[in-house]
Amino acid sequence: MRNNMWLFISVLIIMITLMACASETNKEKMVEEEQQIQKEKTSNKDTQTKSEKVKKKESANKVNEKKAKENDKKLKAPQYVVDKKTWSIRPLNEDIDENIVLLTIDDAPDQHALEMAEILKENNAGAIFFVNGHLLETDEQKQILKQIYDMGFIIGNHTYSHAYLPDLNENKQAKEIEQVNEMVEEIIGEKPLFFRAPHGANTDFSKKLADEEEMVLMNWSYGYDFQAEYMEKEALVEIMLQTELLGNGANLLMHDRKWTKDALEEIIIGLREKGYTIVDPNLIQVY
Ligand SMILES: [Zn+2]
Repeated sequence: MRNNMWLFISVLIIMITLMACASETNKEKMVEEEQQIQKEKTSNKDTQTKSEKVKKKESANKVNEKKAKENDKKLKAPQYVVDKKTWSIRPLNEDIDENIVLLTIDDAPDQHALEMAEILKENNAGAIFFVNGHLLETDEQKQILKQIYDMGFIIGNHTYSHAYLPDLNENKQAKEIEQVNEMVEEIIGEKPLFFRAPHGANTDFSKKLADEEEMVLMNWSYGYDFQAEYMEKEALVEIMLQTELLGNGANLLMHDRKWTKDALEEIIIGLREKGYTIVDPNLIQVY
């Protein structure tokens, strides 16, 4: 009987101990689980904080970018305007240097536009490239336009096919002009800011359309590279620098041609030697 009782008590003690152990393990497990959950929560919080931080940083960057652009615009507030009678470039007030000339390259981007852009860039000279839509059909041509634009040059519209506008009805003129705006915008993300009619031949309709499309109309003061006698470097450099048409605000017409490319650097240097500043076309008032 006593033996039985001892046995019973022993079994009871073992059972209690076992139960206690089990509950301890459970507790430990629960604590572990809770710790895990807590850990996950914290890490979620971390990620959240991180992504919030990234977002904040991004939005700060955007604000900075915007500010930089605004500052840039302020720095590049218009200083010049295209004279609608002479096509020369006039300062907007008398404090602004009038001793400037504008460089323009037409019929681009053909064989030499990119190289001409590089020469201009190396010589720290701005220019407007007037482009034709038929020269913007291939991926390579589009790429070249994008490169020229990314180098900081201004893009102007020179019609799709270099058409003589007075020969075309209004629908066809509209197509010649609007198509190029669409093409240019698709390639560089911005519409042309200037319009120059092929051969300088505008119509009342093309003038009105350029205005509606918010492009500044522009012809030129002088240019020679399309005349047979100036289709070589030396003669072209000489006439571009010696012509009596060279004066304050002169708007120089050049083309995407080999002899013009060859003459370009000497023309830039010669203009500067004569005391002219090559105007940054970004400083010309647009719409
Ligand atoms: Zn042309």
